[in-house]
Amino acid sequence: MKLLLVVPAMEDEKERRLKGKAFRMPQISLGILASLTPEDVEVCYVDENLEDINYECGADLVGITVMTATAPRAYKIAQNFKQVGAKVIFGGIHPSILPQEALRYGDSVVVGEAEYVWKEVIEDFKRKELKPIYYGKRVESKDIVSPKREVFKNKGYYFTSILQATRGCPYDCDFCSVSLFFGRSFRNREIKDIIKEIEEINHPLIGFLDDNLMGNKRFAKKLFYELIPLKIRWLGQASLTIADDLELLRLAKRSGCSGLFIGIESISEAGLKEVNKRYQKAKTLLEKIKRIQEEGILIEGSFIFGLDSDTPDIFDETLDFVFKSKMALASFGILTPYPGTKLQKRLMEENRIITYDWRLYDCGHAVFKPKNMTIERLQEGLDYCWYKFYSYKNIFKRVFSLGYRFPLLGLPVLILNLSYKRMLFKTTDISSWFSSKNYGFLPETA
Ligand code: SF4
Repeated sequence: MKLLLVVPAMEDEKERRLKGKAFRMPQISLGILASLTPEDVEVCYVDENLEDINYECGADLVGITVMTATAPRAYKIAQNFKQVGAKVIFGGIHPSILPQEALRYGDSVVVGEAEYVWKEVIEDFKRKELKPIYYGKRVESKDIVSPKREVFKNKGYYFTSILQATRGCPYDCDFCSVSLFFGRSFRNREIKDIIKEIEEINHPLIGFLDDNLMGNKRFAKKLFYELIPLKIRWLGQASLTIADDLELLRLAKRSGCSGLFIGIESISEAGLKEVNKRYQKAKTLLEKIKRIQEEGILIEGSFIFGLDSDTPDIFDETLDFVFKSKMALASFGILTPYPGTKLQKRLMEENRIITYDWRLYDCGHAVFKPKNMTIERLQEGLDYCWYKFYSYKNIFKRVFSLGYRFPLLGLPVLILNLSYKRMLFKTTDISSWFSSKNYGFLPETA
């Protein structure tokens, strides 16, 4: 039996390139499925962002991981495989929320976490008794396994030294699907298992793919303490609450933390309340970001636009904030009402959703009517922020300022900034940026 695990690309070729090689990482959930698959099954893996899919590869069963924005493409891939006689099973957040939609295109869906049902899926397939839906139960920490890394080899990824230490997030932001999928249960793996996995990876730079590595501060402190002797550097994702605990922050640094991706979302108090990020206060954002960076940890802050409290001034206000904060990297997106979220429910009740074309649910398109600006202005404002933050002038200002304080970080920050810039030129219609002048923006030379 041959099992093919597939990461679909975005439908749109531009979006496919958006992620670019530098920013693509292996799909760890598929590596975990490969680990759980019995030895007698041949397992192959393809990431369509990096290579074309060979529909004639002889796969008997095809497992496709699906996010909302990749759902239309995933369904096409499924139909192509069904035409050559393969069975298709979907997994991931989107089909877990909308299993009946996915079943129109495939044979089966795993709803929720796959660990406890995957062996049953394989056995049922072998007996030709695949069920339409498998309901995966919440996985206990002790049962979270490491991915089978061999499947990621020679696939064109630059960075494969990734792992998960935790699952879930204790918070419940309105727009986020994490707590929908994992519940609000935050689980952490055994520290000895994490250390063992890092030793096996044997790479000086590790990426933690957790939604919120600091979701349990006691666990995070213990983990960081155990990481110190390994002398690695690591990157991860956390909430800004790390800045409230100096001991945690310093332990993170001592354990090798070089950079954190932090979802700041909004710089306004009203915006933070609106998305239910009540643990974050607008007036302390700047101070907390500075505190983290003063410890030598770089920050990529992420911001969303289109909140009901956002007016057209939000773009310049956010840019002022990010420049003042001196953060190393920033990313910007449009609020997106993913299926099943509280945000989607509210916008549906208010009759403000303008499309259910999932291809546009990528945080780069407005799919609902904003309250205080037009859809066009929201789109233009998004492009404006990307281009202004990643203008050469601002990149070099940032790099000199950071390089002056942390000489070893200057070069990596420059490379990351230029990679983002390259990605922007590849993917965005630059004319829309220039037309932003119509809205009173003053873009500088990109
Ligand atoms: S803190 Fe991040 S991962 Fe957690 S619910 Fe909010 S957006 Fe989702």
